[in-house]
Amino acid sequence: MPYDPDNLNHRRALATHLIGALERAGFEPDPNARGERTYQRRVEGRPGAVLRVFTTVPLDGLAVRGNGRDAIRVVALYCGLDGKVRSLGSEKRVFRVGESPEAIADRAIERCREAYRRVKQRPRCRKCGAVTFIAKGSGRDTCAAICWARSNDPAVFDPDDNRLSH
Ligand SMILES: [Zn+2]
Repeated sequence: MPYDPDNLNHRRALATHLIGALERAGFEPDPNARGERTYQRRVEGRPGAVLRVFTTVPLDGLAVRGNGRDAIRVVALYCGLDGKVRSLGSEKRVFRVGESPEAIADRAIERCREAYRRVKQRPRCRKCGAVTFIAKGSGRDTCAAICWARSNDPAVFDPDDNRLSH
């Protein structure tokens, strides 16, 4: 049966499938989420890199929001040890239309896997070890920690230090 955004049971089923699939894929709830349940996980071997998924499930709810034009969003971020957060590239939207709740949740997880692979392919900064992103304009690999702009010594990332910072 196609997903019907006006059907509360479908919206609950999508929320359950999505959150279950995210947790099985190693995502954890973002304790600082606002407005909607947000899940995140580090990208191993790429210090500072975090995938974050905006689920469209309200913080106090068990179902995804009712507007079918709304989208689940998958974003790749750099979360610095200094609290700086910066986008690592394009955001993927998963529209909640046309398929079963299970199929929509599966599609969201596939977008997460693609984003993870994309970030995992990014080179690390040769100076400080942080993940890099492709700068708009120059098209160059650029340190997400912007380490060259620091007046003091840059924070140097341990390759195994993938901590989530906020
Ligand atoms: Zn750097």
